[in-house]
Amino acid sequence: MSSTNETIRFVDLVAQYHRYKDELSAAISDTLEATAFIGGPALGRFEKGFAALCGTQHCVGVGNGTDAIFLALKALGVGPGDEVITACNTFIATSEAVTMAGATPVFVDVDDDTALMDVSKLEAAITPATKAIIPVHLYGQLVPMAEVMAVAKKHDLFVIEDSAQAHAAIEGGVRAGATGHAGCFSFYPGKNLGAYGDAGGVVTNDLELAEKVRMLANHGRADKFGHVMEGVNSRLDGLQAAILEVKLRHLETWTAERQAAAKRYDALLADIPQVRLPKVRAEGAHVFHLYVIRCPDRDGLRAFLGERNIQTGIHYPVPLHLLKAYEHQGNGPGTFPVAEKMAEEIVSLPISPEITEAQQVRVAEAIREFMSRSEK
Ligand SMILES: *Cc1c(COP(=O)(O)O)cnc(C)c1O
Repeated sequence: MSSTNETIRFVDLVAQYHRYKDELSAAISDTLEATAFIGGPALGRFEKGFAALCGTQHCVGVGNGTDAIFLALKALGVGPGDEVITACNTFIATSEAVTMAGATPVFVDVDDDTALMDVSKLEAAITPATKAIIPVHLYGQLVPMAEVMAVAKKHDLFVIEDSAQAHAAIEGGVRAGATGHAGCFSFYPGKNLGAYGDAGGVVTNDLELAEKVRMLANHGRADKFGHVMEGVNSRLDGLQAAILEVKLRHLETWTAERQAAAKRYDALLADIPQVRLPKVRAEGAHVFHLYVIRCPDRDGLRAFLGERNIQTGIHYPVPLHLLKAYEHQGNGPGTFPVAEKMAEEIVSLPISPEITEAQQVRVAEAIREFMSRSEK
């Protein structure tokens, strides 16, 4: 038993900063000395390195993960009158990006075991207006892409992988983001690969698509004043690129550490009957951005853990179709029963590459104590 009552943070970005402080400080001061704030050498190097990691030919750095999806949709010509299918349990950014492009998000329910888009429900959601599917590799686990691609091929649809939670996840030798027409990443600070501000990226093997995304993200420019079209301002800035270049070197280590921490939670929690552990589809296909368990009296458990200085999260408390923002779609309670039930039972435990065994033991023991108390 750990005797300390120190706060166990849900995401511990301070621990990571201290671990790599020297490398990060050098990269930041190099960027300041070079005044390479927009564009610059670190951006090109990071884009090349990240594309290599993903096994794609191209990577275009953009302002954030939401814009990455928006820009990919736009570059593929998805817009007004079009429908785009995605899962109803994701961060709102996924569907927001669809609406930003002028298209309409259409939701499908999720798989009860994995919380991922239920691919068997895809075809029923397809209409003549459907143009694209956005599988979301939620919590860090890959959606079965072979099945998604088969449906997409049959109905001639684009596939854009929302890989914001799944950097470096791999299945059958293929990384998150590398199977669909485009893969979209967020480098938000708390993601598995995070900048010190907002940042995102689009990966693809399609050169034309990469060039179009780059142009759209930079005011539709082909050169300084040669605006071929109207775009937006959504660039990955030089300072963030320099930070990401440093962090990219450690991503594989962090992924292994996250996976080891997940295995440790699995073992520590295995004999608590009220706790349902996350299901891993395939070894390597889950990079544990989040470690999400399911249990009865989730809110009671969270309060109990909170009293013991253990921070937790819920991803996500309300499925998108039940949010006020999507009330106009008319999908009331009962529309997507699997996701609705799941939303009441899920809790995300603290996980990061830096989490210690002692911290995980403290989390597990607190969960055990809560469950044995509520049994009486
Ligand atoms: C974080 C996230 C995004 C959005 O990324 P931002 O960089 O915050 O815009 C999109 N989709 C999912 C699933 C995410 O987790």
